[in-house]
Amino acid sequence: MLPDTITLYRLPLLNEAQLLLEEHRADSFTEAVCLAVRETIWHEVGHYFGLPEEAVHAREAIGTNHFEEESPSSRARVVPEARGRAPRQPHPVALGFGVIFILLGMAGFTSNPLIGHNALFAAGTAYDLLHLCAGFALVLAAYTRPRVSDAWQKLIGAFFILVGVIGLLTVSAAGGLLMGLAYANGASDWLNLILGALAFFGSAIEVDRQKNVLTEGEDA
Ligand SMILES: [Zn+2]
Repeated sequence: MLPDTITLYRLPLLNEAQLLLEEHRADSFTEAVCLAVRETIWHEVGHYFGLPEEAVHAREAIGTNHFEEESPSSRARVVPEARGRAPRQPHPVALGFGVIFILLGMAGFTSNPLIGHNALFAAGTAYDLLHLCAGFALVLAAYTRPRVSDAWQKLIGAFFILVGVIGLLTVSAAGGLLMGLAYANGASDWLNLILGALAFFGSAIEVDRQKNVLTEGEDA
């Protein structure tokens, strides 16, 4: 019987290293490659001890795969990041959608021809508050780890797809109450649906990139 084996693939690791560099988790490409190797082995050893994919990801999301190093110089560099103290670069996609939703929500409280009760995109106060909440949640999510931020973006995207679809199916295109709560019309239903879809699939692109990187040792 063959011993248990973890196979490390060069190209996926180089991709992962590039990603780590872009996330400012390493100062040089060499350091990023070392980090990618370490985190990949950590991931696969997690499977060895019986953790399913979601359990490994949950631990990665809270950073338990980060290590403190021995030398004081590297400790200064690695530890603040591992404890989440270093200023993290915000996830640009989540941050962008967050700002869009906040602007939408704020616009609803001002008098303008685009967004509001009698505007082109009808939005009652309930909608404005919903947009503001989604916007602030996305901005906060943008400052978490990329996988967490992607998950939030997907969740909020899916929510607005649902809201848009329910609106299109139940609310008159000229305007009416969505589920008895939020005033909307056909144009704002489409706006929610399209924004939701963009947010949802915008995060999917990012997640796929991560999946290609974590090559499983199924053939080993
Ligand atoms: Zn895995």
